[in-house]
Amino acid sequence: KGIKGMTHSEASAAVQPLVDQLNQWRREYYDQDAPTVDDHAYDVAYQRLLALEAQYPDLVLPDSPTQAVGGSVDNDFAKVPHAVPMLSMGDVFSLAELQDWAARLEAGVEEPVDYNVELKIDGLSLSLVYENGKLVQGSTRGDGNVGEDVTANVMTIKDIPHQLNKPLSLEVRGECYMPKAAFVKLNAAREAQGLATFANPRNAAAGSLRQLDPKVTQARALATFLYTLIDPARFNVTTQREAIAFMKDLGFVTNPSSLTTDDLNQMDAYIAEQTADRDALAYGIDGIVVKVNSLPLQQRLGNTVKVPRWEIAYKFPPEEAETVVRAIEWTI
Ligand code: NAD
Repeated sequence: KGIKGMTHSEASAAVQPLVDQLNQWRREYYDQDAPTVDDHAYDVAYQRLLALEAQYPDLVLPDSPTQAVGGSVDNDFAKVPHAVPMLSMGDVFSLAELQDWAARLEAGVEEPVDYNVELKIDGLSLSLVYENGKLVQGSTRGDGNVGEDVTANVMTIKDIPHQLNKPLSLEVRGECYMPKAAFVKLNAAREAQGLATFANPRNAAAGSLRQLDPKVTQARALATFLYTLIDPARFNVTTQREAIAFMKDLGFVTNPSSLTTDDLNQMDAYIAEQTADRDALAYGIDGIVVKVNSLPLQQRLGNTVKVPRWEIAYKFPPEEAETVVRAIEWTI
């Protein structure tokens, strides 16, 4: 039955099992780095829960996955509080939904809006802290407010500078990922040794970064793309595009592909191009991120409890037939 036609008691009966199922998938994915369903199946169930909660807001349960960033902090790691929370991101699944999101956003602000459109790297978020140009800390997102201290592991990732080109104290954030070739090699080696293989490069990256022995991380060929500069006003950086250029100048790896535009047709064309070309990339992407380019405007728009209002992820449609079957099971 469609969600719109559901009575309150029907919706109420549907919510708890959905919350329990999603929370189990989240534990497998974030805490154990070992998902048992693919992302599209998760996304379909999550969108169903969002729709039920939108229809009957009193049915938002305290443990609903819509109310908190996924993931927790493994007790084996020291805890790192995030002064600026590391959030999740809203999703859209079609260009029409993306246009609606942009139209709603633009209706609420009295100025023309420029967007910075970037690849959504399929890895895990990483925060890096520098003091006087020297790398002093690396941490995971964790539950968004408190992350895991993975400094020793981060020190082994080859493309992360230990020393910046300028003696600045700052925090940057970005994605830690495993290149496709390294993932294939790692899984082949694990299979030969009779070890469990990783479901995908994202989980391999997460499993490799969240290691107690930095030598294991070092052997795993992780790489990074940085895309967030914390407290940009300190450096007179006022747009996302400038922030990326600023980080690149300091010595970080930033993704070569991005588009800055106020034209939604141009944005659609870029998305179509990137969707078509994504298999040729050396790393996985699971969508495209659209961000308001002006950093002061981002600040004004702010966040919900879970996601920034100034950015959205356009998620690629699933590729495998099996995924589609699972998705259909959830929507009926
Ligand atoms: P998300 O991964 O969908 O989006 C937010 C993240 O995108 C950020 O934290 C950041 O790390 C990353 N990102 C990559 N490129 C970026 C860029 N250019 N700019 C900004 N951020 C960028 O959100 P989430 O809350 O971490 O995870 C939800 C998603 O995880 C779901 O949609 C689902 O696909 C997947 N998931 C799957 C399962 C499963 O069982 N298969 C379980 C839980 C979650």
